[in-house]
Amino acid sequence: MSRTAHNVPTIASDAMDRYEAVIGLEVHAQLLTKTKAFCGCSTKFGAAPNSNTCPVCLGLPGALPVLNKHALELALRASLAIGCEIQPRSRFARKNYFYPDLPKGYQISMYEMPLATMGALEIEAGGAKRTIGITRLHMEDDAGKSLHEGFPDSDRWSYIDFNRCGTPLIEIVSEPDLRTPEEAYAYLTALKQILLYTEVSDCNMEEGSLRCDANVSVRLRGAEKFGTKAEVKNLNSFRYLSHALEHEIERQVGVLESGGAVVQETRLWNVAAQRTEPMRSKEFAHDYRYFPDPDLLSVTVSETTIAAIQREMPELPAAKRARFQSEYGITPYDAGVLTATRALADYFEAVVKAGAAAKSAASWISVELLRRLNDAAKDISECPVAPVALAELLVKVDKGEITAASGKKVFATMFDTGKRAAEIIAAEGLAQITDTSAIEKVAREVIAKNPDNLAKYRSGNEGVFKFFVGQVMRETRGQANPQAVNEILKRVLAES
Ligand SMILES: [Zn+2]
Repeated sequence: MSRTAHNVPTIASDAMDRYEAVIGLEVHAQLLTKTKAFCGCSTKFGAAPNSNTCPVCLGLPGALPVLNKHALELALRASLAIGCEIQPRSRFARKNYFYPDLPKGYQISMYEMPLATMGALEIEAGGAKRTIGITRLHMEDDAGKSLHEGFPDSDRWSYIDFNRCGTPLIEIVSEPDLRTPEEAYAYLTALKQILLYTEVSDCNMEEGSLRCDANVSVRLRGAEKFGTKAEVKNLNSFRYLSHALEHEIERQVGVLESGGAVVQETRLWNVAAQRTEPMRSKEFAHDYRYFPDPDLLSVTVSETTIAAIQREMPELPAAKRARFQSEYGITPYDAGVLTATRALADYFEAVVKAGAAAKSAASWISVELLRRLNDAAKDISECPVAPVALAELLVKVDKGEITAASGKKVFATMFDTGKRAAEIIAAEGLAQITDTSAIEKVAREVIAKNPDNLAKYRSGNEGVFKFFVGQVMRETRGQANPQAVNEILKRVLAES
């Protein structure tokens, strides 16, 4: 286990090495529907407080919920994308608890009959591939939000915004198969990528569309039995997930090493203090008095529905990565970079389709284009260079009409101005010099101007050859064909 700089008890690293962590993640994702799970209220983020509410999502007496069909379709799509088996029949239950932001007094959630079970996700961490089991995927609705700060009288009052009440969520529960914070990070990354590819959720962690809780325990390496677990909540960024897990693992090892016992409880990641803190003793399922929601029909999913959803499934990230390697002959690394999002993968394929060589396209996109997009804080969807325009440039570079160095300059101008490559090359006189007599003329001038280096070359100092190449390239503003420069210089130097 790596040492960390966070606020953690100091434990000898040999003690850390004797233990291994057992981690399971519970991930909540908000479904990308226009309306809520059981009513027609808008799910739009950022609306005026309490403007998107109605008797159903406020839990007023007599209001009757009706399941949003699109929410179910998205949940089914997510289930199939993570290899889950859809249950022919599932059922919503009421999970009863009191909280000010829960006006119904219960959350509607699938409990003993979840929508889907037994999935798996392949992850890669530390160069090793592992398959992580997924216990279940179920649907539920969200609670509102308590606002404890940001108002002039926040020291005395808390405010409540019910807009989020009844927003459709899926919860994806993994098996306790993860062993390190790195694996947990890789799992959440892979899951997020799938939810984005399938357009099930926008996975915006800042807006709370993707949330993660972790069940963590430690045990001596080689032990079969799991240790007592703590649930760590509020891991709402990838960074928090890593930090909180590292901290919690060290904390639990510290407790055990000092002869104590880990308490089953819910802990909260305190971002400011960089540590997990007890929130409440862990509640058990029976505390919630679950019972089937009498207002909602059970959900039955036919084979026909499953087949229809499977047919419309987009190509998933793992399949796309494999296809990019076999179809375009690019490296696993480049395939990983280019399939990071569907939009980027589509861009790459459009560049190739427009005539660029796949390997050139892969390297230019993953290096030049992504760097410029990153510097400009732009998404690929806002890329000022159209795929066909990039393809035109790459064909010119590959044909030797311009050098790779000039190509980069041209690309920078294309990115900044939106102009096409041919126009920029003509305007800036960047066409590659392949005229050997022109290069030879420059080579002779350079040699004549540098008699000292010529003498060194003659006395056997091969190193000065690079100096001459550099001078010729400089005189030709990097536009001379490098191979021609080498050949011509060798010949002219031998004659000199
Ligand atoms: Zn409503």
